[in-house]
Amino acid sequence: MIKRLLAILLLIVVVLGGILITRAFALASRQLPATPAPPLTIDRTLALQRFSRAIQFRTISFEEQNQPTDHAAFIAWVAQAYPRVHASLQREVVGRSLLYTWRGSDPSLAPQLLMGHYDVVPVEPGTESRWEQPPFSGAVANGYVWGRGTLDDKVTVIAILEAAESLLAEGWRPRRTLLFSFGEDEELGGSRGAARIAKLLAARGVKLDAVLDEGGAIMTGAIEGTTKPVALIGIAEKGLASIELSASGKGGHSSMPPPRTEVGAIAAAVDRVQNAPFRAGVRGAAAEMFRWLAPEVAFGPRIVLANLWLFEPLLALQAKESHSINAMLRTTIAPTIIGGGVKDNVIPAYARAVINFRTLPGDTIADVVAHVRRAIDDPHTRVRLFGEAWEPSPVADPSAPQFQRVQRAVRAVDPDALVAPYLLMGATDSRHFEPLTRNVYRFVPLPLREPDLDRIHGTNERVAVSGYFDAIRFYRQLMRAQ
Ligand SMILES: [Zn+2]
Repeated sequence: MIKRLLAILLLIVVVLGGILITRAFALASRQLPATPAPPLTIDRTLALQRFSRAIQFRTISFEEQNQPTDHAAFIAWVAQAYPRVHASLQREVVGRSLLYTWRGSDPSLAPQLLMGHYDVVPVEPGTESRWEQPPFSGAVANGYVWGRGTLDDKVTVIAILEAAESLLAEGWRPRRTLLFSFGEDEELGGSRGAARIAKLLAARGVKLDAVLDEGGAIMTGAIEGTTKPVALIGIAEKGLASIELSASGKGGHSSMPPPRTEVGAIAAAVDRVQNAPFRAGVRGAAAEMFRWLAPEVAFGPRIVLANLWLFEPLLALQAKESHSINAMLRTTIAPTIIGGGVKDNVIPAYARAVINFRTLPGDTIADVVAHVRRAIDDPHTRVRLFGEAWEPSPVADPSAPQFQRVQRAVRAVDPDALVAPYLLMGATDSRHFEPLTRNVYRFVPLPLREPDLDRIHGTNERVAVSGYFDAIRFYRQLMRAQ
């Protein structure tokens, strides 16, 4: 009897193993062949000088109003630093943001929009001395260009301008109209820059073929099972909603307290929300990413990624260890503000907390509010939306020809790089353009390793000189791929 059971068990294991392996190896690679891009023939010294100069403008987005910045000076500098772009493209200054139109020869083709932002976050006071090169020096040293905004996101703006300037010098003209949008306030939400430019285009009835904004990068060592660089191209980004919890009561002397003070009520509410995570699952952009990576990775991870119907719970389990996997698989919960009370022996009449949620495509702001109410289950605690909130983006189709254009441009510059769709955890200015096209992609063509991510908004932000030149090659390639 036992022998028979063992035999049946063995048979199940063999059949299941067979299914898993067959599925894993039936997967076809989605990597497209590409002709290598020609080497860059531009004046590299000049291109480097211009990037360095761009970093020296303190185009800082301050939270406080009316701080002096170099926005106006930067705009004036762009006009004279890129004379061909200035002479040949139509330039519109929208607030302190720039919209360029490079008219194509075929007006029947919908324009392609390439975008970035030239504002930067401030350098945290007290951290200046930790920079290897001063943050607004734009110093070129040890093979890098250093400074605030090199990665986020002046490299995009400058590489697009360099690409256009060099193509103009060669007498090249686009068939499809190209638009460039350079925002002034992405770090504050983009309401003055990208949002206004998007509204302007919408008012003109413009429909876009595709949008490429900042986002993923060419990551090395970040994906298990491959040593190749992987270009992660955002096909969706998460939404954002903050919720304020508040409790009001009578307050009073702390010597004769009620069973629960307002501070206690808020602490309990925060704890309940944090202990009610949203469901994790491999959906949408994350599912696409795994589908694209599966055929490219080593045997072990390949079996897992090709058989998520079986291994999804395993991945959800891994989300407990890895914050990035967790953020990719579910709407996240981050309590960020808590307060109430002024004196140790006074029961405050009011206490509050704010919890920040990043919603997965598929979840909505209304879902978050309902989830919080359910988790707290206490009519005494008030729940309301706090500050700006927006829904997650739609998920773009990675099999669209517009995506393939980006994919080919990546591989034309680095034939070794793999391409995979990706879910962006943060927010970009691109969301303002969602009403104008289904094809919104988020990608900066720069090679990075995971520790480099700390440099974004952190100290020692820098871009490899070789990476900068490759970024110019990428945009040249993309502009020409019509
Ligand atoms: Zn940015």
